Amino acid sequence: MSRYREAAWLPLPENTTQPHITPTQLILHSAAAPWSPKRLRDFWNERGVTTESHFGVGYDGAVGQFMDTHVRADANASANNRAISVESAADTRNSDPWTPDQIDALVEIMVWAHRTHGIPARICRSETDPGFGVHRMFRKWSLDGTECPGKARAEQFTGTVFPRFLETLGGVLEPVVPTVELENLQYGKTNGDVVDLQKALIEHGGKIPAGATGYYGDQTRAAVAAFQRKQGWTGPAADGIPGVETCKRLNLRVA
Ligand SMILES: [Zn+2]
Repeated sequence: MSRYREAAWLPLPENTTQPHITPTQLILHSAAAPWSPKRLRDFWNERGVTTESHFGVGYDGAVGQFMDTHVRADANASANNRAISVESAADTRNSDPWTPDQIDALVEIMVWAHRTHGIPARICRSETDPGFGVHRMFRKWSLDGTECPGKARAEQFTGTVFPRFLETLGGVLEPVVPTVELENLQYGKTNGDVVDLQKALIEHGGKIPAGATGYYGDQTRAAVAAFQRKQGWTGPAADGIPGVETCKRLNLRVA
């Protein structure tokens, strides 16, 4: 069970029927309705709406939790198996900005999700990259494209909400050094740590023709080996698999 203690628990029936997930992303939405969390839950329930979120935030900052964050919610299309979703009260065109109370609540939920689930404190750089985002950032996070949570709130996300979240975590306003686990950086694996490795290699002049896809295949192995040889290393020290020292020189922190 994972529940945010500041939230009113307003469970949906889907809690007991949908699969277990391990969340790596958190995605913010607007509900196109000026509703309290309870009103939103009742609407979904009565209408049998199946694109539910985990949380709802009213205009006054009141938070309701509809789904355990270890259970899948279905607001995010291709990201449903990895994303926590947060709805918020909005005007019917999703055109108004978040209120100061909503921003406070969103930042608190994001801090909780970071601490509870280890969602990294960064903005998602791809649809699968672990981190935080707003619904319209990636096409595959919706079934047929969406402007949600609206232009004003998308700007608030990068200009206010995310910086406030970083401040709350300890004043980290400079670019976050990615933290990786060595066991994730192995041939054949696909994950967000591989994305960090690939981006770091590319920033250091490495060649990965497919780009930072998150898949550790031949291109990534060759780029790591080339980087290792550039350090003057040979033999097993240039095997194309990064150890602690390779990561350090690529400005990656090893967990
Ligand atoms: Zn949305």
